[in-house]
Amino acid sequence: MNDLQHRYDDLLARMARAAQQVGRKPAEVRLIAVSKTFPPAMLRTLAELGQRDFGESYVQEALPKQHALADLELCWHFIGPLQSNKTRPVAEHFDWVHGVDRLRIAERLSSQRPDSRGALNVCLQVNIDDEASKSGVAPADLPALAEQVASLPRLRLRGLMTLPRPRGPGEDPHEPFRALRALADTLRAHGHTLDTLSMGMSEDFEAAIHEGATHVRVGSALFGRR
Ligand SMILES: *Cc1c(COP(=O)(O)O)cnc(C)c1O
Repeated sequence: MNDLQHRYDDLLARMARAAQQVGRKPAEVRLIAVSKTFPPAMLRTLAELGQRDFGESYVQEALPKQHALADLELCWHFIGPLQSNKTRPVAEHFDWVHGVDRLRIAERLSSQRPDSRGALNVCLQVNIDDEASKSGVAPADLPALAEQVASLPRLRLRGLMTLPRPRGPGEDPHEPFRALRALADTLRAHGHTLDTLSMGMSEDFEAAIHEGATHVRVGSALFGRR
């Protein structure tokens, strides 16, 4: 068994265990293999093992990889920061966008989504720790943004995404994920149908699964160090 296969099996087992620890079914949590900087051959190996969802952060890097793997039925998630001059290739070539944090980006994605494809799935990125350096909508501004994004015709608002600051020793890694879940519950109470919490990476996916993650985005624990 090669290293990649070994890490993949190990990761899926850890995800399943984390789900079971809180009475969830392993199938409720989807792995997005974050493949940025890694070559198409590694993605192909994982696809042969059954992996379908891949996450990429850079448009210029992702498009040639998608082209090289076009014979496979894959689901592509754009997880990087998104400038308005880069929305068109994302709207055309991805199935999901996880980092929407302002209306202007959402409007462009909606108007640029080709008719030949279904609605683009989007998650709103929330700046859960209120960090100046991070993108993401402030929790206080989330309800208004959700309202606006949900009304765009070619987008389907699926849920929330966050990228918390790493917790240190003595801090509870569950706290930011619990906060994101509470925000999603509030939006649901306002009538939004949300089925997605995109949260958890290599260092903290177990805590995220404990708090209800439906999609974890894992890179280095799977592919190795970038
Ligand atoms: C790179 C990246 C990840 C994966 O991070 P790892 O620590 O390598 O698992 C997840 N989410 C986003 C938004 C990323 O940019």
